Amino acid sequence: MECRVIGMWGGFPKKNGPCSGYLIQHEDFSLLIDCGSGVLTELQNYADLNNINHVILTHYHYDHFSDIGAYLFSRLVNTHLGRADEELCVYGPEDEDMKKQVEDVAYSRFASFNEKSRLEIGPFICTFMKNIHPVETYSIKIECDSKSIIFTSDTSFTPDLISFAANADLLITECSLYEGMDGIASGHMTSEQAGILAYQSNAKKVLLTHLPHYGDLNELVVSAKRQGNENIVLAESGMLIQL
Ligand SMILES: [Zn+2]
Ligand SMILES: [Zn+2]
Repeated sequence: MECRVIGMWGGFPKKNGPCSGYLIQHEDFSLLIDCGSGVLTELQNYADLNNINHVILTHYHYDHFSDIGAYLFSRLVNTHLGRADEELCVYGPEDEDMKKQVEDVAYSRFASFNEKSRLEIGPFICTFMKNIHPVETYSIKIECDSKSIIFTSDTSFTPDLISFAANADLLITECSLYEGMDGIASGHMTSEQAGILAYQSNAKKVLLTHLPHYGDLNELVVSAKRQGNENIVLAESGMLIQL
């Protein structure tokens, strides 16, 4: 299993720097996690849009889902052009408006999940934990071939994350805030909390993601590592992690 970081900025994209998107691949099968602003264009540096038929949206904040609409149109057009021959399956928290938006476009379908779901998507088994965030949001565990990836998406810190993420081969943890800031009000984590999660869950590799648009990002790494896990780096667009 491998993970390609497509984008990692929180809230809005930077110039040539997309928001949340992670391409998970095993052998010839691809699964896209989140499709935030800027993801659809960046993704095409690494994959053919027509070869990705499954997209999981962790929640409906624009930095995590805004490019899905254009993805539906790409599937519609490319099916008519004979370049795609499978429907695009979009998975997300239950939402009638989203289901309608997806299924109003031909060659796409929507399926919901919640904290009780266990989705088998190709070689991947996906399970979920409900987050602490202003809208319904889920952390995801993706398991394949005896390896596991945890993506926290957006959440305040909770000890439940430590057991959900236990012994991950790759932990992709949000790190929206600098040490000392308040994550409770906004539904996000500080670098210190991301570090506590990385250490206490015993993650083998850690990416800090959902990065802020201010300050010295290296301070996030220093702060997170101080909690005891040394294998922590900043997520970067294009980065490939092989497990
Ligand atoms: Zn976000
Ligand atoms: Zn959010």
